[in-house]
Amino acid sequence: MTSNDSADGRIAQTVRAHVRAQQAYAVPDATGFIKLDAMESPYALPDEVRAEVARAVAAAPLNRYPEGNLSALRALVRQAFGVPAEAGLLFGNGSDELIHLVIQACCEPGDTVLSPWPSFVYFDITARLSHARFVGVPLTAELGLDLPAMLAAIAQHRPKVVFLALPNNPTGGLWRDEDVQAILDAAPGLVVLDEAYQPFAGSTWMPRAADLPNAVVLRTVSKIGLAGLRFGYLAGPAAWTEQIDKVRPPYNLGVLVQAALHAVLPHKPLLDEQAARLRADRGPLAAALAALPGVRVHDSAANFLLVRFSGAKDANAVHLELKTRKILVKNFSSMHPLLSGCLRISIGAPDENAALLAALHDILST
Ligand code: PMP
Repeated sequence: MTSNDSADGRIAQTVRAHVRAQQAYAVPDATGFIKLDAMESPYALPDEVRAEVARAVAAAPLNRYPEGNLSALRALVRQAFGVPAEAGLLFGNGSDELIHLVIQACCEPGDTVLSPWPSFVYFDITARLSHARFVGVPLTAELGLDLPAMLAAIAQHRPKVVFLALPNNPTGGLWRDEDVQAILDAAPGLVVLDEAYQPFAGSTWMPRAADLPNAVVLRTVSKIGLAGLRFGYLAGPAAWTEQIDKVRPPYNLGVLVQAALHAVLPHKPLLDEQAARLRADRGPLAAALAALPGVRVHDSAANFLLVRFSGAKDANAVHLELKTRKILVKNFSSMHPLLSGCLRISIGAPDENAALLAALHDILST
């Protein structure tokens, strides 16, 4: 018996079947590509801000664990992002980590986590990893929220946690406030209002983060130019955040991330300007894409567009041909029947959007 055989045997006996059957979250090598697959900001920070980050990082005490109460960072985050003073505030290593923490805090094995579907795949992945059951409530054929179906599913499954991505990923739609309110009124447990793409949408639940009895607002800095930092925050009634805080790993936010935030967040207006540029480019890019043969663009309130290809070339072919032209977008055509033929394309810098349009023009006319 080789050591590998014995490792395989032990793994089969030891690692959860569900985990063995799963793939690790795949991140493609993007070296040399125009990267329009992950909703990052295409804009780098200006040199002077980068220099401030470098100085802050150099001064960070790497020999010490991060300090416990983070009151200065809390004040900065509240100010930069309009988190109400009365709301509790938790920080995560990306909002992904906070999604984990919410489910871990709330769900016993077999409990239900529910979301409109398709939505952010990590809601489903995380629920299952935490031994919860995931229920995805299909969107309408037009990729809108099916409120009657949501209310029926909530009544049937009594979910511990409901996730609402506002706007929704990967479809880009933003659910109406009154529909969200109806879900808040019906949900027996906690509703997570995931505002990852809020900077591109213009409306927010954040001002009410301390007042809603059964909701928390989840945000990230990943889409506004700081994806590399891995920083997310969750705001809600303190009684809720105190419970969720109990499952947070100790010192989950490293000193380098904290130092960088201290340097960058005073420049928040600059991040807002970059987001506004992407928002302004969304309409013209959508119109130019929709003018291509066999292409439909779904309405988006986010920094990406869901684009459906139903001409001579299908989404898989277009995805591959874009790749050979060094343009990376995300293929959702096999994720869910409602997304058949769909690619999700982040809005890039103007030269990237132009390169995308030129490539698609070429691909679809040959
Ligand atoms: N929520 C939604 C709806 C997302 O689309 C994403 C990222 N794709 C996240 C949360 C996680 O973002 P991060 O971990 O980078 O903060």
